[in-house]
Amino acid sequence: MEVLILLAALLVFLASLLAAYLPKSRPGDDWLDPPAPVGHGEGHGSSAPPTSLPPSAGPDLDDVDLNEPSSGVGIAPRPGEAPPAEDVADLGGPEPDDATVAEIEEALAQAVEAEQAEAVKPRFRDRLAKARSLLAGYVTSILSRTTIDQDTWDELEEALIRADVGVSTTTMVLDDLRAEVAEKGITEPEALMAQLKGDLKARLAVGSRALAFEPGAPNVWLFVGVNGVGKTTTIGKLGKRAKADGHRVVMAAGDTFRAAAAEQLGVWAERVGADLVQGVEGGDPSSVIFDAVQRAAARDADLVLADTAGRLHTKVNLMEQLRKVRRVAEKPPGRVTEVLLVLDATTGQNGLAQAQQFTDAVEVTGVVLTKLDGSARGGIVLAIQRELGIPVKLVGLGETVDDLVPFDPDEFVEALFG
Ligand code: GDP
Repeated sequence: MEVLILLAALLVFLASLLAAYLPKSRPGDDWLDPPAPVGHGEGHGSSAPPTSLPPSAGPDLDDVDLNEPSSGVGIAPRPGEAPPAEDVADLGGPEPDDATVAEIEEALAQAVEAEQAEAVKPRFRDRLAKARSLLAGYVTSILSRTTIDQDTWDELEEALIRADVGVSTTTMVLDDLRAEVAEKGITEPEALMAQLKGDLKARLAVGSRALAFEPGAPNVWLFVGVNGVGKTTTIGKLGKRAKADGHRVVMAAGDTFRAAAAEQLGVWAERVGADLVQGVEGGDPSSVIFDAVQRAAARDADLVLADTAGRLHTKVNLMEQLRKVRRVAEKPPGRVTEVLLVLDATTGQNGLAQAQQFTDAVEVTGVVLTKLDGSARGGIVLAIQRELGIPVKLVGLGETVDDLVPFDPDEFVEALFG
């Protein structure tokens, strides 16, 4: 019995000796070096860690649970590869300072946001189903014939007019198409449709669609248009994009005549992390824009997104008011680099008459066409481009924050004609 007890005691002694001399490594320990600032050149001290996060240490965005609030440095470690953040301190390496952690967190947040934005970016093809189904019957009928005859031209004309291309633009498009068909000896309906699509893309591809921005001063982008077209929503959506592009954004609630407008913009400002400047209800919109520019300059913000009224209660002329807003926004240090006319695609040709008034009053630099997703009248884009001579810069393809996209003529024409 004593022999057995002695043997057991010996075994325990040997086991503790073994444990003391075995190396304390675990898989993935090389990741435990405190992270260096992302993109910065120098490491920390003598046991310098890598100068930037090694690819293996960075989060695989597929593995990040986007719904979970971030913890530690915001990386969800993969099982078996990375230890929990608390272990970093246990192992005695230098702890990352607050600035480093904040920098990494920001870089990761941006990467995750970019991936999310990429994942949900709406496609013209998916969102223009209504407009496409209006044209589909005509396209099928035209392609079912073996030749191009008078019925073909009649159907094309009807299709374009119903899609709200407008009579004069339709006439121009079809006259040019006839001439090309004759010149190129096109006889097949398929070739005719290909030619039409090519023509439409070329017509829409003129002018720059980039949003103008001049570094060095608070840029002001003014949003004008009648009530309900989607100005406030567009500012919110664009604010998110601008922030993601690295701008510091101030939103100006210049629609002081609609009670809920400032509140609505406030919700967007909070969502996207922008400053909000608002005035008293019924007050002078120009002073709101003025204050917003001052705020931007004081806070080093480079972009003011300014909402304006679409209708006034009083007899004050809206166009006069907008002219004044623009003049005030131009006062140094402000600089108006875009005046974006917001038009609702569902109002079709009626929107063109409104547009004319706005373009006469303030120098409109681009059109934002909202609600294309709910409209069968996608052809309005062609009419705007030709009759107003202003490029459609952005389109709204839905109500959520990621549903505002740059206008893409190729994608648009393909989405319309299938
Ligand atoms: P404002 O009066 O010009 O500021 O218009 P709002 O921004 O308040 O928008 C009026 C309505 O249009 C809101 O319900 C928005 O959600 C909606 N809206 C704006 N843009 C779009 C879009 O691109 N698609 C759809 N389906 N709805 C939109």
